[in-house]
Amino acid sequence: MSNTRTEEVKKIRDELLVATDAPLYEYRTENKYFPVIGEGSHDAHIMFVGEAPGQNEAKTGRPFCGRAGKILDELLASINLPREKVYITNIVKDRPPGNRDPYPDEIAFYSTYLDRQIDIIKPKVIATLGRFSMEYIMKKFGLHAHFAPISKIHGRAFEVSSHQVTVVPLYHPAVAIYNANTKDELKKDFQILRQFI
Ligand code: URA
Repeated sequence: MSNTRTEEVKKIRDELLVATDAPLYEYRTENKYFPVIGEGSHDAHIMFVGEAPGQNEAKTGRPFCGRAGKILDELLASINLPREKVYITNIVKDRPPGNRDPYPDEIAFYSTYLDRQIDIIKPKVIATLGRFSMEYIMKKFGLHAHFAPISKIHGRAFEVSSHQVTVVPLYHPAVAIYNANTKDELKKDFQILRQFI
């Protein structure tokens, strides 16, 4: 099963590499950056969806390999969940200049690739990291009625029985770099994922 999944994910990478209509294609090539597709198990039960690659990620093609990634690694370790067992990706697959917030047209373009990744991997849980992926994923799965500021709904599990998926909004790990309270909240929130491992 995972061989087919791996081939399908590879197809996404191949397509995106030459997608000259991608909003951040020129910025990527000018800077000799890579698109960051995702990393981890294609049979993962849990998929993490961040916002967009930063500079370290764009230089290496790997998601969450910089400072926010170190925090994510710490959070995964806190529930004994090896990074290789989950799938980690972002909504936006190319680095926005200066790490600015993604624009709506960028989310609209790159989220089609995320949709395909979700269809291929079929995670039981989608844990969103930050408000951009929270908004996109909650709306995608018809959770409009539960939509609220991240401070109100982080760490809660929203089951979408029609799609056999549970959505768990989480704070973005980058927020925890300088804020110990957020890190403690994230650690608490991660506990909810244990039941899905
Ligand atoms: N922040 C994100 O949202 N994604 C990454 O891959 C790295 C930092």
